[in-house]
Amino acid sequence: MSTHHRTGGLVDGFGRMATDLRVSLTDRCNLRCTYCMPEEGLDWLAKPELLTGEEISRLVRIAVTMLGVREVRFTGGEPLLRRELVDIVRAAAALEPRPTLSVTTNGIGLARLAPTLREVGLDRVNVSLDTLDPARFKAMTRRDRHADVVAGLAAAVDAGLGPVKVNTVLMRGVNDDEAAALLAWCLERGYELRFIEQMPLDAQHGWQRSEMITAGEILTALRAAFRLDPEFGRGSDPAERWLVDGGPGTVGVIGSVTRPFCEACDRTRLTADGQIRNCLFAREESDLRAALRGGADDAEIADRWRAAMWTKKAGAGIDDPEFLQPDRPMSAIGG
Ligand code: SAM
Ligand code: SF4
Repeated sequence: MSTHHRTGGLVDGFGRMATDLRVSLTDRCNLRCTYCMPEEGLDWLAKPELLTGEEISRLVRIAVTMLGVREVRFTGGEPLLRRELVDIVRAAAALEPRPTLSVTTNGIGLARLAPTLREVGLDRVNVSLDTLDPARFKAMTRRDRHADVVAGLAAAVDAGLGPVKVNTVLMRGVNDDEAAALLAWCLERGYELRFIEQMPLDAQHGWQRSEMITAGEILTALRAAFRLDPEFGRGSDPAERWLVDGGPGTVGVIGSVTRPFCEACDRTRLTADGQIRNCLFAREESDLRAALRGGADDAEIADRWRAAMWTKKAGAGIDDPEFLQPDRPMSAIGG
């Protein structure tokens, strides 16, 4: 394979350009969703391993001003647990050209933080919610925090962080009977619901293809209650979207396993300990933290980032029999 370009954006060998940066701010979380991590949590990264707020802001600046990144999403783990979040968002909002800024969160603490985040320049939030039933929520996340999430969603709208997106993972025999009810609930409140197929990214390696609720099954369940018409112009959005009952409400389905969208992928990922991953399912990482702490200048860091993206594979191949789950779970990579 030829070598990467030393100027310009984050292109790979298949001609895709990464303009959407996902930054994991921490691998820690205050929930324990069964599809994500075990009850006892994980071996969290130690503080010296984590990038500092300043280091994160520097890498975001390099991505936006030198590498063509236009959209920055903060995730984790649970990004609201990171105290520096407000300063990191403020610094990113001051960049030229100004990137679009969003946070993917479980919603706990959002009721308190939403106004401040809006004030410092956050544009949008994605909130994860898998059930309308508090008891079920407790069983799925091993924490009794359903009301906090619901309050967080409402506060996000009030603070002007809309359109608010809701992410839902359905599990067989657990919450797969709630697809239509969740959609009705979200439509009533003006939230954009997106279902995500469960991926083999749990720390416990418990994922089984047969247990996953597929995009096809989700659509069948929704069509029993609503009319769905395809919305055109998917672009690089991994969600296929449908107009519900003639619109304007929509619903999205992210079929990462059964309907992969790798050919349009525009993502680049930075882990909480400063590693670049060119794909959620990549088995290799590139260490920017060592470069940062070794005194590399901006140009050198930008070049390492380009090199890391150049080798991005054509597809993740989750549905292939030879698929190998990455070593790190979703909570450590940044979902
Ligand atoms: N803690 C935040 C949250 O839950 O929104 C941000 C990180 S979380 C890893 C990001 C998204 O990934 C959430 O919507 C979560 O439901 C989803 N997720 C976690 N594990 C998953 C899995 N194995 N398959 C599919 N989606 C998953
Ligand atoms: Fe935490 Fe998000 Fe994983 Fe749930 S999905 S355990 S909220 S990181």
